[in-house]
Amino acid sequence: MAGSAARVARMTVLIGRPGAPGVGVGRALLLASAAPLLSAVAAIEDPEVEATKLRGALATAADQLGEIAERITDQAGDEVGAIFVAQSLFARDPGIVEPALEEIAAGASAADAILSVTSLHADRLASVDDEYFRERAADVRDIGRRVAAIIRGDAGTDPWRTDGHPAVLIAPDLDPSIVATLRRELVEGIVLDRGSPTGHATIVARALGIPLVLGVDDATRSVPQDVDVAVDGSTGRVIIEPDAAALHELRDRAPTRPTIAPDNDATHGVSVAANIASAQEAAVAAQAGATGIGLVRTELLFLGRHRPPTVAEQRATYARIIEAAAGRPVVFRTLDVGGDKPASWGTGPVEANPALGVRGVRLGTRQPATLDDQLRALVEAAGAGELRVMLPMVATRDEVEAVRVRLDSIVRAVEVETKVRPKAIQLGIMIEVPAAAVMAGVLADVADFFSIGTNDLVQYTLAADRTNPELADLASPLQPAVLHLIDGVVRAARTRGRHVSVCGEAAGDPLVIPILVGLGVEELSVTTSAIDAVRATLASLDPVACIALAERALAAGSLAEVRRLIAGDPAG
Ligand code: PEP
Ligand code: MG
Repeated sequence: MAGSAARVARMTVLIGRPGAPGVGVGRALLLASAAPLLSAVAAIEDPEVEATKLRGALATAADQLGEIAERITDQAGDEVGAIFVAQSLFARDPGIVEPALEEIAAGASAADAILSVTSLHADRLASVDDEYFRERAADVRDIGRRVAAIIRGDAGTDPWRTDGHPAVLIAPDLDPSIVATLRRELVEGIVLDRGSPTGHATIVARALGIPLVLGVDDATRSVPQDVDVAVDGSTGRVIIEPDAAALHELRDRAPTRPTIAPDNDATHGVSVAANIASAQEAAVAAQAGATGIGLVRTELLFLGRHRPPTVAEQRATYARIIEAAAGRPVVFRTLDVGGDKPASWGTGPVEANPALGVRGVRLGTRQPATLDDQLRALVEAAGAGELRVMLPMVATRDEVEAVRVRLDSIVRAVEVETKVRPKAIQLGIMIEVPAAAVMAGVLADVADFFSIGTNDLVQYTLAADRTNPELADLASPLQPAVLHLIDGVVRAARTRGRHVSVCGEAAGDPLVIPILVGLGVEELSVTTSAIDAVRATLASLDPVACIALAERALAAGSLAEVRRLIAGDPAG
């Protein structure tokens, strides 16, 4: 396509975020939407006919997803296969089927009904202020689009007609089940305008070994159809019309991406750990050189089902995560649902104010069977190895003591049953409720370590809903009030020899990191794709200057003053 290629006079480099490592070179193939299977809208027939079409398409989608699950499990293991097992089950879920049939009875076409019901469900998930839930919304939309495509007779058409030439797909975003059906030998790489580092589409690309770069602003508009494109999924670079030297440099580096040895000297003694939700991500974190897993969001296993997973299911997943972490310490946070992270099974009555309701550890102590199952699965998964358990939303010492009693008794029971003496399991807590920050000295007597969850700590300290964009400025981790709480927590932890980490979004923010280091935080636990950048930020810091900056920030009277200090304004 000489015409569009001419728009690029010479080699151009676009910068995005690393998604799936590796290098690929191929012809640009632009896809207009996340679900290239879809085309025209079908006319509405009799509601009975539409209902039959819907039921048939749901059954077909469930079968297709079941087949994808089997194939991906063979290629990439249970963890990734489970994504499509869950999708396949969801396609048979009465919670989706019934409302869609109601829409048809009210006059909608089968395709519109399924798109509207799944879109509503996805919007609900996306509105939860938790990355994990937002990403699961993509799975639900994926299913809706697959079913609609089947109804419209589009399924089975090959949306990436590569003519046998290796292609680099350029799309706004891609559905996970679309990525799962890509043939590695025909797809050299993927470039997305949007995408998410922990989304299922990215996880599947990693598992299939397809290099992926995400978050490239306007890639679909900047890359002309059919030009040569090189993708470096390890660094996030996309090179349009790469010259020979650029190709040489990329290919030279491509085969070997050695695991980066954790080097705490380079980061001034501050460890960079990872926040993960699956074994796949734990492996990526280990590859990226994380010193440990600072936060396992165990919610992944509990979402989109009508009852909590069994002990056996949980044990298998936790064991895989431990294995993938390859000897690094792993901190499993117990189930953190309730409030803004609703579970789909009965967690209790509807609350007037869920943000201040029965959530996190409060739910655990009120539904001890679910908590006990999880603790047992964790203890069994640990075997004779090491493992750390962390409680979310702790507000009082009693909560920690109550869980410790349960944990101790489960450890004893497992020891009797298995004749294996578990290593002492550390029990730590999230500091995300101001009461816990203020009482950190007391909590340090009963908790083995602290991890500061700045997302919630900021919300509760400033009484500013973290999902409300109107309050974005108020809800900043740089607010002096928050910095004082963090300072108190670090001091209390140090006095009693407790390890203190930060695992909220602030830990990955280059503007906040210098102050966290200056306050004495020992570990930053961040999303896997940010590990390299956080390590680079740490390496560039002067620790003495960080201490001075933190002291001045604590003396500041406003957020604006703290921001001026960070910007280097001596007037503060
Ligand atoms: C936090 O609150 O900072 C945190 C890490 O937990 P979550 O974002 O999952 O609530
Ligand atoms: Mg939290």
